[in-house]
Amino acid sequence: MKNGSVYIETYGCQMNFADTEIVLGVLKKQGYTVVQNPEDADIILLNTCSIRDNAEQRIYGRLGNLKNLKTKKPELVLGILGCMAERLRKDLIEEKKIVDVVVGPDEYRRLPEYIDVAFNGDKGIGVKLSRTETYDDIEPHREDGLSAWISVMRGCDKFCTFCVVPFTRGRERSRSLNSIVKEIDELSSRGFKEVTLLGQNVNSYRDGENDFADLLAAAAKVDPSMRIRFTTSHPQDLSDKLLYTIAEHQSICNYIHLPVQSGSNRILELMNRTYTIEHYLNLIEKAKKIIPGVSFSTDIIAGFPTESWEDHFATLEVMRQVRYDGAYMFKYSPREGTKAYKMGDDVPEEVKTKRLQEIIDLQQQISYEINQNLIGKEEIVLIEGFSRKSDEFLSGRTDTNKVTIIPSQADIKPGDYVRVKINKATSATLFGEYISHIIFEKSSVVLSA
Ligand code: SAM
Ligand code: SF4
Repeated sequence: MKNGSVYIETYGCQMNFADTEIVLGVLKKQGYTVVQNPEDADIILLNTCSIRDNAEQRIYGRLGNLKNLKTKKPELVLGILGCMAERLRKDLIEEKKIVDVVVGPDEYRRLPEYIDVAFNGDKGIGVKLSRTETYDDIEPHREDGLSAWISVMRGCDKFCTFCVVPFTRGRERSRSLNSIVKEIDELSSRGFKEVTLLGQNVNSYRDGENDFADLLAAAAKVDPSMRIRFTTSHPQDLSDKLLYTIAEHQSICNYIHLPVQSGSNRILELMNRTYTIEHYLNLIEKAKKIIPGVSFSTDIIAGFPTESWEDHFATLEVMRQVRYDGAYMFKYSPREGTKAYKMGDDVPEEVKTKRLQEIIDLQQQISYEINQNLIGKEEIVLIEGFSRKSDEFLSGRTDTNKVTIIPSQADIKPGDYVRVKINKATSATLFGEYISHIIFEKSSVVLSA
């Protein structure tokens, strides 16, 4: 097999970023070197996202730029990985003739073979979806750092009517609990301080008798000084056992990303979300009781087919009731092949824009109010490094994932946990002053230095 230098760009969700680390793991094992500049590469790969039309358009735009490089260097191999490879293989190979390799999310193990096919002048195409592939035994290529992602399950069986994921990423399957725990242990030895367990429906994880709560508990036991985060949870699978597990372990962050999508039962049914808004709100109430101080974020879609103003107001009402710390907010984007595609796209663009803006404005107001209420309170912050704006300040995150800025001082390093008193806040950032260091003992007891 031939090898060379590879440059990769990643688009879309955290799972794609975790997949890129798997792809680089596979390629490095074959002797490929990773370069940081497309001009230096023999192979350029784009790991792509199909979730909304604008994600795909962005990648088509990028392919347009890369065409110039390929014209200058015809032996350059250009590849598309990920969800677009699955959805648009024909268009990419036949219409956009500059693409040489098209490999979907379940075929990364064979990527070196497909690249070889391209080096030999043919098209390397691997888009089969698998019922079993979890890349359990592949060591992802990770730079040293504080924070790591681990995909613990792949695919999705929920078939929300608006979503391409079940078609581009195939059926649900989980990695073994033991291999995940081993990986967390290795990350702990390398000095990582935070892992995020990833899955499209991370809480439907299952390995034999073990469910997601068991996985979280096992992950939390590895190293109490490591924060455990997870995303994305589906409301249908948020069990009481899971809530109690989060409450019992100090290192599992009190933060749940729980997409609601809409506040209207009529729309939720059309979306095939499988819960009512009453069920969802009950879950939130239950979680708030079981996990003191828990916070939530969500995903919301504005302008789903047939959405009326009344439906939209129901979404705003749910936002006021739950008071999310943050939200990812989107205009509905019709995706060919999904059930919702056949429902038409009857909410006019300007109405979608107005509704989305109202949702964003309300969320900003709520985030601002929640953060103002933290002034005068203490938070434990994991320090990540200097703030983006100045070396005079350090930046880190709270347990509930809020960026927090404090003045720099020589005895605070990246990876330290510090107690911070909050003295100022915007809708997106907290500002505070250092109080003391926190040291986590193996016994899980928290000591102040
Ligand atoms: N599995 C997660 C869940 O159940 O919510 C999220 C997966 S998806 C990558 C992230 C978000 O993209 C969804 O929660 C949804 O809000 C949004 N999304 C998916 N399809 C969409 C579409 N066709 N138009 C607009 N937003 C969409
Ligand atoms: Fe898409 Fe729904 Fe699966 Fe999330 S749960 S990935 S929104 S089909």
